[in-house]
Amino acid sequence: MTSANSPTFDNSYVKQADRFYSPQAPATVPTPALIRVNHHLASSLGIDPQWLASPEGIATMAGNHIPDGAEPIATVYAGHQFGGWNPQLGDGRAVLLGELIADSGTRYDWQLKGSGRTPYSRGGDGKSPLGPVLREYILCEAMAALKVPTTRALGAVCTGEMVFRDQALPGAVFSRVAQSHIRVGTMQFFAARRDTEALHELSHYVIQRHFPEAAQADNPILAMLNEIVARQASLIAQWQSIGFIHGVMNTDNMLLCGETIDYGPCAFMENYDPATVFSSIDHNGRYAYGNQPSIAHWNLAQLAQALLAILDNSADANEDSAVALAQQALDAFPDLFLSAYQNIIKNKLGLNNFTESDDALYQDLLKLMQQEKADFTLCFRRLAELSNEAACINNSIRELFDFNDSFTPWLQQWRQRLKEDTLTPEQRQTLMFKANPVFIPRNHLVHEAIVAAEQHGDFSYFNQLVDVLEAPHIFDPDKLAYARPAKPNEQVLQTFCG
Ligand code: AMP
Ligand code: MG
Ligand code: MG
Repeated sequence: MTSANSPTFDNSYVKQADRFYSPQAPATVPTPALIRVNHHLASSLGIDPQWLASPEGIATMAGNHIPDGAEPIATVYAGHQFGGWNPQLGDGRAVLLGELIADSGTRYDWQLKGSGRTPYSRGGDGKSPLGPVLREYILCEAMAALKVPTTRALGAVCTGEMVFRDQALPGAVFSRVAQSHIRVGTMQFFAARRDTEALHELSHYVIQRHFPEAAQADNPILAMLNEIVARQASLIAQWQSIGFIHGVMNTDNMLLCGETIDYGPCAFMENYDPATVFSSIDHNGRYAYGNQPSIAHWNLAQLAQALLAILDNSADANEDSAVALAQQALDAFPDLFLSAYQNIIKNKLGLNNFTESDDALYQDLLKLMQQEKADFTLCFRRLAELSNEAACINNSIRELFDFNDSFTPWLQQWRQRLKEDTLTPEQRQTLMFKANPVFIPRNHLVHEAIVAAEQHGDFSYFNQLVDVLEAPHIFDPDKLAYARPAKPNEQVLQTFCG
């Protein structure tokens, strides 16, 4: 029985070719218990938050109840993992419950992650421990509050069963919402099988769903590729600007819709260092902070490669002409990235426009940060505080970070530069506060929240952290502890996949 308040599904992916997915019901679990519901997101998707937090909603998030209209499936994909080709991946521990149309008119997937085995599980159990579920909830909602395109947390539940990794851990299921879960690796799956028909069908679907304007172009597939390249350039620029390190930028973890996905071993950088890596499995630093733009470019090259067979729709199309189109689309990436990035840097430095010499100014600041082991987030936030001398900031982060003497010449240069700029100090500070968050999901805080929940069943740390991160740009001295970098004994230098 489904109650009157359950959501209205409108499923489209399940209507595509059978070889895009396998029907797959989620596994049932012993005793579902609610962790958290995202009221605001639920409402925007036409889901009654009261229903979601009710026994029926909790049972749905746990996989024990399939509401009317849901048609659970596991989707298939392939991908390059750490540069190595894997021809057969897929939702190994997730099912797409169905799709919902938001108030905005945008279509969203509701996926259960950690919901049991599927035909794509290979050796895995299809389950998720509680820790990775809490980590994903905290990180993706922090990213959303930082206005970075991302998959979202609709809710999370405990399952009441243990999951076995190197130890027994409490199990959980994460309700993930995305504009879609179609990945670079989804295209690669069909390209590798030379299934041109599937590539056409999938591209048509992606265009309808994500890039409807591309349908009007002379070459819709090329227009789609160009738009995917542009969205990734913008996305990675945003990651770089807040010190977000994804950690596992495999091609199966890059969504065509341009949202950040797969919050496995990701973490935020504290001390500025482009070589920063947290993921325990990233031995060679392939996915280090400073490599993210070039890795995104490489992933897009794999996408272009996958689309080659369908990329040129002209009458005299041949392999060379398709390669030329792909190359052109890819060659746009560096400039698109740079202009997106410089646009953010301009705001972070409090400038109204960005000139060539501002890049040198910025690079000099980064060098100093690296040399002084300065906290990336707090350094910019403190700069924002200094941007309006007249403003009386009695709730400053100064006690957490202040510029030492090594920064003095740079600060003089920056002040000199501001004199040529047209913004008033008030405007500048408003701009800078918006561009320079004070609260990020620091690794030790995420760790603390996970340990409290895992070991003591105490979700208060988790809930407080999620609450604080909802307003990352507004400083509140009562929340000083959430802005503080890890002390040496608190540092969490390694992160793990779920
Ligand atoms: P990820 O590292 O999250 O991108 O996952 C890589 C691939 O492994 C995806 O196809 C996942 O669905 C699959 N996978 C990861 N963990 C499990 C698990 N515990 N059980 C089954 N499949 C899994
Ligand atoms: Mg993944
Ligand atoms: Mg993962």
